[in-house]
Amino acid sequence: MELQWLGVNAFRFAAGDTTVLLDPYATRRREPLCDPAVAKRYFPQATGIVISHSHWDHLADAHAVAAHTGAEVFGSRTTASVCQSFGLPPDRLVVLAAGDRAERPGFAVQFFASRHVLLDNGTVAYAGTYETPPPAPPRTAPEYLEGGTFAVLFEIGGYRILDLGSANLEDDCLRGLEVDVLLLGAGGWQRTPRYLERVFGNVSARLVVPCHHDDFLVPLEKGIVIRAPEKLAELVRRIPLLAPGTAVRQLDLLETLHLP
Ligand SMILES: [Zn+2]
Repeated sequence: MELQWLGVNAFRFAAGDTTVLLDPYATRRREPLCDPAVAKRYFPQATGIVISHSHWDHLADAHAVAAHTGAEVFGSRTTASVCQSFGLPPDRLVVLAAGDRAERPGFAVQFFASRHVLLDNGTVAYAGTYETPPPAPPRTAPEYLEGGTFAVLFEIGGYRILDLGSANLEDDCLRGLEVDVLLLGAGGWQRTPRYLERVFGNVSARLVVPCHHDDFLVPLEKGIVIRAPEKLAELVRRIPLLAPGTAVRQLDLLETLHLP
């Protein structure tokens, strides 16, 4: 099983001839938010595309990746509405709500209720939903409404991988979960009260991979720029104290982990 990090909350999981992409976003600029050529360079193939919430740094390239790969897109009603506004056919869009699970040959995906990390003023950026496709495809960051935020469990290649792409959670929904790999949102994590205590009080993982701590307006080819290095270091330092025996692996941009 291969697990590759492509910045923000973008991951590629590959096992056999199955390739699943999570929040594939590679354009990493505001104008335009999506460059299909860049998206194709970094995400050339996919069996399935899964979107954890609908902000631009998670969703803006998904329609382009779906278009050139032919993959289904799994996500919230808002994700489906946005993809449809870009011309993706509804039969390629799989709407998942909290508690829903979808199985396909080679992988399964399950959505759990979760929460987005809050801004300093206590609100969620660009909150809201698209219950139906917007009249025109979103072009700017504020038009990518959050659409609800989900923790996502993947089963692929014999592994269970849980993504908490935004540094917040709904404690009750994750209680007792045991996974092989936890992809742990680290962007702004200190704004969520007792974030790490609550995550590791509910979820046990053999390996933790932090994510969403990079400056996602820096192009992938320029290498990683960590937004708050001291805060990331503190997160990495505290995990083994809260979850003894859990390994932490900080990946470089584009690095691939090969899991046996
Ligand atoms: Zn977000």
